[in-house]
Amino acid sequence: MPINRIQFQPGLSLSAFLKEYGTDDQCKDHLEKARWPQGFVCPHCDGTRCCVVWHGDVKTFQCHRCRKQTTLTAGTIFHSSKKPLTLWFQAMYFLTQSKSNISTLELKRLLGVSYPCAWRIKHKLMQVMYEREVSTRLAQRVEVDDAYLGGELPGGKAGRGSENKVPFVAAVETNAEGHPLRLQLSVVKSFTLAEIEAWAKRSLTPTAHVVSDGLACFRAVTKAGCSHQPEVVGTGRKSTDMGCFHWINTVLGNLKTSIAGTYHAFDFDKYSYRYLAEFQYRFNRRFDLRSILPRMLYASAATGKRTEVWLRLAEDSC
Ligand SMILES: [Zn+2]
Repeated sequence: MPINRIQFQPGLSLSAFLKEYGTDDQCKDHLEKARWPQGFVCPHCDGTRCCVVWHGDVKTFQCHRCRKQTTLTAGTIFHSSKKPLTLWFQAMYFLTQSKSNISTLELKRLLGVSYPCAWRIKHKLMQVMYEREVSTRLAQRVEVDDAYLGGELPGGKAGRGSENKVPFVAAVETNAEGHPLRLQLSVVKSFTLAEIEAWAKRSLTPTAHVVSDGLACFRAVTKAGCSHQPEVVGTGRKSTDMGCFHWINTVLGNLKTSIAGTYHAFDFDKYSYRYLAEFQYRFNRRFDLRSILPRMLYASAATGKRTEVWLRLAEDSC
């Protein structure tokens, strides 16, 4: 059996990571290049000339034009963090190189920090992933399905009627050769025509050709200009037996294994969009495991500060 080139690609080994990102100075250097690839840009006035002023160990950049000072991390996802950048880089490494999702508890152990600290780091990084992924629009052949996350109540009650199940649309784009390209997982309020129309308008381009089962709401993708191919799953037949749903079923199976094996259901309801974005982010960058970390760093530098209060209040929006 031929090996799967995506699954067997080398990735970023722990020793290579430590060599490149092992010290605080190395991390600062990488962050500075990611934040200002063309050189310093003042966040207050866009001035490009500055001088460096040290406040103890803290390096600040003083703009020549407006005279305001800014630190390397101010206005990024690392804003006001008391933890060293090396710790953040380790978290980014674990979150991007792992095949499955990593729970807050596992991250706490790996980083050697308190649970609340691990929660803040993980949710800030998941928020970065979400904000990168939210504008993904699928354009080719797209297999879609209705799916649910969580739903296991303390008493063991589960199933479609469970109050804390989170409905989401799962969509996989495939190319002309039938290979999966990109994934999109979007939390929706319910599976109604209006919800799916709104989803299709923000998630698909009019070139998309949507393949779904017979669920009526998916007809609404035509309102976004897409073509629609409903495949009715007959009695005694399962969608998992149908080749046209091969990739969506495979991905949903992997998602459920990954999430069920990692997380408890208790906070899915509120933060489900971040957990889904974490899975989606890694899937959509699976072709190049070595570049995920530099790209994650670039995205983290470009995402503004997100306080814990904001993270706890934020619903599915940014
Ligand atoms: Zn300035």
